Amino acid sequence: MSRIEPQPGIMEIELYVGGKATVDGVSDVVKLSSNENPYGCSDTAKEAVAKAGHNLHRYPNTDHASLRAAISEVHNLDADRIICGVGSDEILQFIAQCFAGPGDEVIYTEHGFSMYPILAHAVGATPVKVAERERVVDVDAILAACTDKTKIVFIANPANPTGTMVGSNEMARLASSLPDGAILVHDGAYTEYVEGFDGGAGLVDAQSNVIMTRTFSKIYGLGGLRIGWGYASKDIVDVLNRVRQPFNLSVVQMAVAEAAVRDQAFVKKCREDNARMRAWLAEALAELGVPSDTSCANFILARFSSREEAEACDDYLKTQGLIVRRTTGYDLANCLRITVGDEAGCRRVAHAIGKFKDGAR
Ligand SMILES: *Cc1c(COP(=O)(O)O)cnc(C)c1O
Repeated sequence: MSRIEPQPGIMEIELYVGGKATVDGVSDVVKLSSNENPYGCSDTAKEAVAKAGHNLHRYPNTDHASLRAAISEVHNLDADRIICGVGSDEILQFIAQCFAGPGDEVIYTEHGFSMYPILAHAVGATPVKVAERERVVDVDAILAACTDKTKIVFIANPANPTGTMVGSNEMARLASSLPDGAILVHDGAYTEYVEGFDGGAGLVDAQSNVIMTRTFSKIYGLGGLRIGWGYASKDIVDVLNRVRQPFNLSVVQMAVAEAAVRDQAFVKKCREDNARMRAWLAEALAELGVPSDTSCANFILARFSSREEAEACDDYLKTQGLIVRRTTGYDLANCLRITVGDEAGCRRVAHAIGKFKDGAR
């Protein structure tokens, strides 16, 4: 018998399952399974990729100063309190690594993002799942679940895969009512889809136990490049930076992210197109007898009458070259999460669901 044993928690991890990108035997596929931007990324970001190509022999800078300065200017935040990572997933990982360990509890919610329990197990902490109220995060239920072992509470706002939001007052009440020493992580992957929303930055400024995370993977259309960032108190950022590898972001990642964040006209256009097509899609599906909660993000959670119907619809959509996301792993077996595509993508998925409802299999 081998005596080589992984650390506590590692073998509890259920591997993350990404959205599918292909269907066997179907060539004209629309991928609506990973909440990607159907319009791609900003042209200036693409130009930055080419330019950065001239510097590939140079090590990147370790302090991300220029990227943090750009983020700080655009969002009016203190650059010294920003940390950049390989996707916001890496920031979430730093948080778990620095602030939770064996014997500690990490709270996430019933339909919360599946990375949260993975991150808790990875550091040997105990993930604690708290019920939601009709697919909305329930602050009172979270507070009731807190113990003196609670170290981190992860909430995505807007949430994935439900698309629902908790109001700023409720988030503030949660932050100020957490036990001493517990951190609230305000995961803002979909912040930019909400007009005028600061993603929790104001809450970070008001409460020293809050960390905001953001990403370039969603509205910026740069999921393939892997860049995210976090904003927190100086003390917390100082802690997180100690576990960050000095060269975690490449020359290309930083150059492209900086160009992307400076192109807020692109972000605005994507937010508006998304809002229009999201409303259209939600209404089209509702008319077909497939309701959804009002979504604040770039996807809708389509609710079917049963798990069987949701799965049959998913199977049919695949035959039509439409890839959406099953949400069985999120305790939402009767639902399918559908990313809001461009107009053609939305029309195609609504049309196919209509045919499915008419009996096509
Ligand atoms: C997509 C997503 C992320 C972003 O992950 P990246 O590592 O930045 O690509 C984080 N949280 C939630 C809830 C998401 O849906």
